[in-house]
Amino acid sequence: MEQKSWHRLGAEELQKMFGVHPGAGLSGETAAERRQESGYNELSEGKTVSPLTLLLNQFKDFMVLVLMGATLVSGLLGEYLDAITIVAIILLNGVLGFVQEFRAERSLRALKQLSAPSAKVLRDGKQEVIPAKMLVPGDIVLLESGDRVPADVRWLECSALYAEESALTGESLPVSKHAEAIHAEELPLGDQKNIGFMGTMVTRGTGKALVVRTGMDTEMGKIADLIQNTESQETPLQHRLEQLGKILIYVSLGLTIVVVLAGILHGQPAAAMFLAGVSLAVAAIPEGLPAIVTIALALGVQRMIKRKAIVRKLPSVETLGCASVICSDKTGTLTQNKMTVTRIWNAGRSLEVTGEGYAPSGHILQKGKPVDLKADQSLRRLLQIGALCNNAEIVETFPGEMRGKRKGKEKGEDTEKSLKSQSVWELKGDPTEGALVALSSKMGLTAQSLAVTYAREQEFPFDSERKLMSVIVSHPGGRMICTKGAPDVLLNCCSYMLWEGGVVPCTPTLRQKVLEANEEMASGALRVLGMAYRDVRSGEVVGSEKEAENQLVFVGLAGMIDPPRREVRDAISITRRAGIKTVMITGDHGTTAEAIAHQLGILQRGGTVLTGSQLTRMDDDALDKVSDNVYVYARVSPEHKLRIVKSLQRRGHVVAMTGDGVNDAPAIKAADIGISMGITGTDVTKEASALILGDDNFSTIVAAIEEGRNIYENIRKFIRYLLASNVGEILTMFFAMMLGLPLPLVPIQILWVNLVTDGLPAMALGVDQPEKDLMEHKPRGAKENIFARRLGWKIISRGLLIGLCTLGAFWLTLRIDPGSAQQLIRAQSVAFATLVMAQLIHVFDCRSSRSVFHRNPLQNKYLVLAVLSSVALMLVVMYLPLLQPVFKTVPLNFREWCLVFVSAGIPTFLMGAGSVWGGKKNRSRSGGRTMIKSTKISA
Ligand code: ATP
Repeated sequence: MEQKSWHRLGAEELQKMFGVHPGAGLSGETAAERRQESGYNELSEGKTVSPLTLLLNQFKDFMVLVLMGATLVSGLLGEYLDAITIVAIILLNGVLGFVQEFRAERSLRALKQLSAPSAKVLRDGKQEVIPAKMLVPGDIVLLESGDRVPADVRWLECSALYAEESALTGESLPVSKHAEAIHAEELPLGDQKNIGFMGTMVTRGTGKALVVRTGMDTEMGKIADLIQNTESQETPLQHRLEQLGKILIYVSLGLTIVVVLAGILHGQPAAAMFLAGVSLAVAAIPEGLPAIVTIALALGVQRMIKRKAIVRKLPSVETLGCASVICSDKTGTLTQNKMTVTRIWNAGRSLEVTGEGYAPSGHILQKGKPVDLKADQSLRRLLQIGALCNNAEIVETFPGEMRGKRKGKEKGEDTEKSLKSQSVWELKGDPTEGALVALSSKMGLTAQSLAVTYAREQEFPFDSERKLMSVIVSHPGGRMICTKGAPDVLLNCCSYMLWEGGVVPCTPTLRQKVLEANEEMASGALRVLGMAYRDVRSGEVVGSEKEAENQLVFVGLAGMIDPPRREVRDAISITRRAGIKTVMITGDHGTTAEAIAHQLGILQRGGTVLTGSQLTRMDDDALDKVSDNVYVYARVSPEHKLRIVKSLQRRGHVVAMTGDGVNDAPAIKAADIGISMGITGTDVTKEASALILGDDNFSTIVAAIEEGRNIYENIRKFIRYLLASNVGEILTMFFAMMLGLPLPLVPIQILWVNLVTDGLPAMALGVDQPEKDLMEHKPRGAKENIFARRLGWKIISRGLLIGLCTLGAFWLTLRIDPGSAQQLIRAQSVAFATLVMAQLIHVFDCRSSRSVFHRNPLQNKYLVLAVLSSVALMLVVMYLPLLQPVFKTVPLNFREWCLVFVSAGIPTFLMGAGSVWGGKKNRSRSGGRTMIKSTKISA
């Protein structure tokens, strides 16, 4: 569609132009047609690496270049077979690297898609949530506080709507939006108050809008080049490993030079030594390490997705493993967010409510007897306020499956009846409000019946800062303000109270009675809301919530249950065993929060509850003194969350923090791991977060932490494997040269070991299952060295033993006939087989932080498969006559194989036996890490 000054056009003109009715939206068909024309509503992706570039990049590596130089030298020296084989190995290595990186890149891109924003749209008369990229010009979208505007839109309806447009206009304060046409020719973006721009944020209110431009046609599209969305996805560990890789290059090169010089001094031919040196250097440098780390991270992230945790920032995968405190919202994350009103306090009476869920069945009972609503004006008013000051809707739906089954039966009334009995009452909107709709429907006060008398004029939406919501409704007798919200806050806006049928001043005694009733309900873990109203005086202008929410008449309280999620109790006990403290942060009342914290096992002996107002009175020092001991923060506002995160961080904690609303974004950004809600979360919080919970569930955080720990441990496992293998290879050659022995391995063999024996098993270790006690340890320190917990010692000791045993087997074979060239080839084949087998046995040892005997070696099927393929490939180069001259190998006899297996087994089994013996001596230590003793847990 041609670009226009959309701000000048009236709503009707626009609707005609785009061929859409604002109440029904476009049809799916029209939308699909328009998409053909306008394309997807997305900004074109920045530079992406093409597969070809990725493949070519594999050959840019410094060591590959060295290897290519060596190939050239081999060729010049007439070693054509060597040269061809090395080229083949380089190519194979390149392809393997390409596959690894391509896979990693693809999984990362898939993740980006998963966290892409969505839009609430009207299509075919129904509300739908669709991926924002599916929007087309003419679509009608519904937006509310916290949503990102998904395209350039022209507002059609706005209710107290503000948008933050700093990315486009530089104006940091949110600007108020309206739906009227603006009659001006050229207007700067900041003054186009009836237009919403793609990528800006609705910070308050609600609105309906018509999409006028999509994708690259939007204002954001025009400056797409300026928006740098390309966040560095390299994790600190990847960065550290890159540096380690550089150090290892120098160390390996140094050692290689020593080996080459020692060989030449002991009379080895210089050309052969040169080639051996180059091969050794190539083999010694773990060039595959970064790619395997990326794969391990990417696959770990995929596993997390399966467990409903979507990682937005790769570095957080590592941080997850260090998390020592989880600060979690209560409603919906720890609890089910399925609210049912069970108690009412009205005009001094306590009433009970029966019925479950959102179905309109049940009664309100006073002392066991149903209340007659006709004769009870004050209860009627309470229910009216609850239903009018409300945006939720409850609809009766019939599960499609039942419909389908019944269709063919045609049993008239009978079918109708059974269909009714199968109906489900589905909530659209906020569960707290849904509970109030259900409550009034139980007494016959439905939205339809109320609409006959009352019409909404204005809304002051709920926000968790104010903890109140108000509407102004008109009725035949005038206008009325209805307010509901947190009782303690609402009481401060009330001057009167509905008491025993009449309106009386709200005296301190009456106020006290309300607070006591509130406290009593909250101590039963009920979420309590207060209701109030007042008539709008004639001539009174009510333009803001401040002007509305004063001089109110307090009517009563509604207490609703919100049962804890079933799986959360277990998840909390897991975190406790894992040395992670769980803190509940909620906008709800202290007593309600405390009761639920007790039910879930969050509140520990000696632990305390701190309220938002107490927190406000404390300075940062005072907060730091108590924050270690606080398990529940109640009645907090979003801004308090930032202070809590910072205080815990000052106390040395690594903090994971959840949030859902717009105002939670700063705290989520400041937390070490910001977590947002996939279902109820706003786009702003999702964008600020590192992790999105697909199911809004606390136990998903625990699952993500478990995966985070596992990924880190797996990275340590294959680092251990690769480095110990490399140390073994270098030392075999080094000792041989020092002792004046011939080369124990020829260059091609070294390259083969590097390619086949190292790569596959290392990758399989990257997807290894966690050890049983993974969540029985305290979290590791954020600054912990990757070689901590004796990993460095394990690498050196195993590497040394692998080197010595390989050399031993070589020497024992060579010794039978020292001068013969034939025997040298036999001894080299023995050394080759010993080195390969020693590494393949050692790989099982790497799976455990204790010893090889602690884990079932067959548990990781990928590893078993990788090891079997490596063994098969080793046998191929030893037994296939065609390859024997290339790899300078000969088939071994039974005695030689026995020697190979004994020498290859020694490093792992000797060290394993040592660990078992050492472990018996010190039971409370495991892998150098402190175990948590279940009796001692406090935080
Ligand atoms: P959490 O942060 O754990 O999700 P929460 O959902 O209870 O806690 P808020 O949504 O900020 O926190 O609610 C705070 C208080 O505001 C509630 O205790 C309730 O009294 C009141 N409240 C909640 N929802 C509404 C609403 N829709 N209208 C009016 N008042 C509400």
